[in-house]
Amino acid sequence: MDLKPAAAPAAPPSPPALEPQIGATPAPAAPPKEAPRPGFEDWSVPMPLMDISGLLTAGAAPRGPLPGSGDPFAGAVQEQGAPQPSVYRARRGDTLQSVAHKLGLSSEDLQAANPGVKKLRPGQLLQVPAPPAPPPPPVSPEVQAHVADRLASWPEGAPERDQLQRAFGSPAFAGLTPDEQRKLVDYASGKNPISTGGREELARLAGSPKTSADQLRNLLATEPGAPSVVAGLPAIAEPSRAPYQINGPTQADNTFASGPARASRYDVELDGRTIPVFLSQDIEPKDGVMHSLDEVVRGLAALPASSRALIKQVNMDGKRNPSDAYWGEVYHDPGFRSYMTAGAAGVVDIYPTVYRQTQHACDASLIHETGHILSGRTWGNWQSDPRWAGWDAASQKDGLSPSTYARSSRTEDFSETLTLYQLSKGTPYEAEYRAMFPARWAAMEAVLAAPPPTQ
Ligand SMILES: [Zn+2]
Repeated sequence: MDLKPAAAPAAPPSPPALEPQIGATPAPAAPPKEAPRPGFEDWSVPMPLMDISGLLTAGAAPRGPLPGSGDPFAGAVQEQGAPQPSVYRARRGDTLQSVAHKLGLSSEDLQAANPGVKKLRPGQLLQVPAPPAPPPPPVSPEVQAHVADRLASWPEGAPERDQLQRAFGSPAFAGLTPDEQRKLVDYASGKNPISTGGREELARLAGSPKTSADQLRNLLATEPGAPSVVAGLPAIAEPSRAPYQINGPTQADNTFASGPARASRYDVELDGRTIPVFLSQDIEPKDGVMHSLDEVVRGLAALPASSRALIKQVNMDGKRNPSDAYWGEVYHDPGFRSYMTAGAAGVVDIYPTVYRQTQHACDASLIHETGHILSGRTWGNWQSDPRWAGWDAASQKDGLSPSTYARSSRTEDFSETLTLYQLSKGTPYEAEYRAMFPARWAAMEAVLAAPPPTQ
């Protein structure tokens, strides 16, 4: 029997693993209906930095206009390629003092730029020093109050508090826009693991007086501390698991992502309903390690009820996802390995992984997969449906991402956000993440508050 959705919007894979490919997998003839959930073998790999070339403008900043009134550059020579005059050609009657006055400089600065020059001859060239950079505008009282509020969450005398205070008092910080200042404060002042990485890098930067506002912008753009995948964050607490009962198995034929196979069917009773779990009997050992039935059922039992209600069926595939090559292309990750996949129809596929995955990874990744089901039912195909525009706007407004993997597509961004949202709910990190991802949190709560769309 074919229990796969006939026309389900592609639900993307979960985070990719950076492990070497095991065996050559032929590329699927047609794009997969569902997206893969990559394995988590890459958790300990340092997060790659985003390519931020093009974002930085420090080297291209033009010199500000020289101060002065009237026509101060009457005698100025435009150097080839230079945006502003930097050389002055002396005219009859000029003195160092009069030229300095004309250019709005102090005589000392002009003299320092032209050592050895005493008396001016007409036609003589003078180096015009760059005017001092204007002081950054003062940090607004609103942002100052916000800084004070966030610093107050750290005990007096804590080294983190001192680091933050120094960074938020720096000229580089003052050079950011108020919106950037707020983002940086909310990013770096939390106690959660994402903020911790950001704060350490911020402290390093703030230790140098040469640090520029652009370097702080770069910090926001590259987001050190962001996990590869949200499921890779340490478990905040052992989840509570709903009571369940497993009935079976019975023998069944099932269509897995890797193809039709004989399976053991277990009927899992949870919340007064039954979720069938098909465990493939066609196992390819070289494709890796499978979760046990018990681990998967415990994962189902740990799901928030709203997520569990979205799952109609679970397939425990004995082989890797044949669509891995396709997703590797879509996500520009040739080594991509699916861990789990799901689509709007509510079927979750789980694949073998090279390394054994923990119960926590299973718990968190199942939440992630229900994000694909939920978003697919709410806004349709993520690759084409315009109803995704609101989510895109929320992501852009927040700027920061819940994980590196969230950046691979809008649907991964949604699923990673849902995972972080649910894992942190009711914990000390909840308020911090809400402050870091305010637009996404609001959009997520609107989705969760709406009656679950039916398939
Ligand atoms: Zn995914």
